[in-house]
Amino acid sequence: RGDSRAADRTVDSVCPYCGVGCQLTYHIKDDAILHVSGRDGPSNHNRLCVKGRFGFDYPRHASRLSVPLIRRDGVPKGLDPDFDPADPTTHFREASWEEALELAAGGLVGLKEAHGPDALAGFGSAKCSNEEAWLFQKLVRTGFGSNHVDHCTRLCHASSVAALMECIGSGAVTASFMQALDADVVILTGCNPTVNHPVAATFFKQAAKRGTRLIVIDPRGQALCAYAHRTLRFTPGSDVALFNAMLNVIVSEGLYDETYINEHTEGFEALKTHVVDMTPEAMSGLCGIPAEEIREVARLYANADKAMIFWGMGISQHTHGTDNARCLISLALACGQTGRPGTGLHPLRGQNNVQGASDAGLIPMVLPDYQPVGDAQLRAAFEELWNTPLDANPGLTVVEIMDAIAAGQIKGMYILGENPAMSDPDLDHARAALARLEHLVVQDLFVTETAQFADVILPASAWPEKDGTVTNTNRQVQLGRAATPLPGEAKPDWWIIQQIAQRFGLPWDYRHPREVFAEMTRGMASLGHISWERLEREDSVTYPCPADDAPGADVVFSDAFPTPSGRARFSPTRPLPPDEPLDDVYPTVLTTGRQLEHWHTGSMTRRAKVLDELEPEAVASLAPGELARLGLAPGEQVVITTRRGQITLAARVDPLMPEGMVFVPFCYAEAAANLLTNPALDPYGKIPEFKYAACRLSSSEHA
Ligand code: SF4
Repeated sequence: RGDSRAADRTVDSVCPYCGVGCQLTYHIKDDAILHVSGRDGPSNHNRLCVKGRFGFDYPRHASRLSVPLIRRDGVPKGLDPDFDPADPTTHFREASWEEALELAAGGLVGLKEAHGPDALAGFGSAKCSNEEAWLFQKLVRTGFGSNHVDHCTRLCHASSVAALMECIGSGAVTASFMQALDADVVILTGCNPTVNHPVAATFFKQAAKRGTRLIVIDPRGQALCAYAHRTLRFTPGSDVALFNAMLNVIVSEGLYDETYINEHTEGFEALKTHVVDMTPEAMSGLCGIPAEEIREVARLYANADKAMIFWGMGISQHTHGTDNARCLISLALACGQTGRPGTGLHPLRGQNNVQGASDAGLIPMVLPDYQPVGDAQLRAAFEELWNTPLDANPGLTVVEIMDAIAAGQIKGMYILGENPAMSDPDLDHARAALARLEHLVVQDLFVTETAQFADVILPASAWPEKDGTVTNTNRQVQLGRAATPLPGEAKPDWWIIQQIAQRFGLPWDYRHPREVFAEMTRGMASLGHISWERLEREDSVTYPCPADDAPGADVVFSDAFPTPSGRARFSPTRPLPPDEPLDDVYPTVLTTGRQLEHWHTGSMTRRAKVLDELEPEAVASLAPGELARLGLAPGEQVVITTRRGQITLAARVDPLMPEGMVFVPFCYAEAAANLLTNPALDPYGKIPEFKYAACRLSSSEHA
């Protein structure tokens, strides 16, 4: 438990890390969290993983910001190896809130007046509450005057959402992961739940023990393979070939659900024709899976009474990420595997509030509830709600904004809780862009790598210090409650956003997040019958919810899809190679992601004592054969080089890795994986290809 003293009070809240959204209780003494325990929430049933249980002390880290900071004259913007985040006064001077806010907002207002609305952009964060996301996108749209607002959904499931919106008219999951307990077959592809959604993984294991057949489809092995009925470790980047071969089997063997297709879908005849030549034999060479194995798995899924598909960023983070998700949706539609208990499509959302932040409109091409900015009628509803005209042009996305800075278009930014100097692909490019900004305001808990480029840093609130709602991967809107006081002069994020908004001349006067949530319920049909007061009583309500006293819908689209015709649509795809093919100079696949103990860019977990002691240094995971080929022993340094950069870090032997591939977590600033990654984008979701870059491994920097 970490501390044997007795707590003097407890506060119920939600875990601030992954999209599972575990409910927890903070046990507090003298305003400090002693330990954390799990609650009986709908997504965790008292369970917590190591992050939720032990990752609670980061708000009290020695480098926590408690005073506004302003860059000292003459200090260049950028990463200085001598900079100590625990003593930022070498590079920044402390300032009053009044001075910092005047400078922060004044710089942005001045750039807008000089260059117009398109000179500004904002990154919000999935680490923030729904209310903060709502206010942030509202500030950009009504204050900055453009739609140049985005957040890390662009780097995780933007392609999944693009495919889901296109095919079924909704970007959220069709069923919670608890439905896996009722499924006969569960496909897990491009995800590693034991690492990234650990409590969800415990329910998958439970399902397997009860008889659910798990099918793990991924180039890398993982802990859940031990529970799997079948494991397909296909060639990296060949997802579309494999899934189309499965569709070919379902079509050619007549395994599809004709009644479901006739009643609920459109476009199946075109799909049938499209997949006719993509037989398992034809695709086997591309995906590396024997044709008969593809047939077996296709039959298992299609013949199941109830089957679900879960996916993660191994599907979405490709230049063909949208095509990958389109294939998975086609599989479910062809086999009638949605709309009933134990069936469904579930992109496992990564960050704790990436679902809620996206729903709240922290996306450049859509207003809250995914209403396209270009639709005059839908836009008019928000113009009326906010009493101001809105821009009809879709804004720029995360990577496009970096390119627009480099091109001189975007000159000022407001970044809340995001860390693009670590999370963007091709970091040298992203960091050069940040350094070029004429005015950068960063609102965060620490002087992150991104904050080291800022003109003004505003000290924000950590999750245990605030009231707010978040929405997890299951569409469960949950209430977090302030448990501990803010340090020093740090302020609630909603208050800071409002201060900036007021300096843009906006007449905002919110006094508590509950007032923001009330406004959200007026603009977002998805939040119908969910109120702050109800959440105070019930802690969690799933949307969509049909009545004030009814539970929300765990499974949706039983009768119709939210598309103009009420039908779901098949969207055929063809295999495309990764953007950066392997060659003699760069013969190995680099893939990136998270570790169990660390989360996103590590700004919180690397400041959590237990978590950082468990995983203290950057590591590259390699198959035993790769290490042997390099002549390295585990723990020795390996050099990884791509066309964009080079990093050196400790080699870790991992028997679950395939030969010809290396995995690097992206949370270590000292060996930043994203110095290496490929910024090529999926054309629909605009998501970079984090899961596939051509690299070279060596034991020496000069090899
Ligand atoms: Fe937190 Fe996710 Fe772990 Fe649950 S599974 S405790 S939400 S990190």
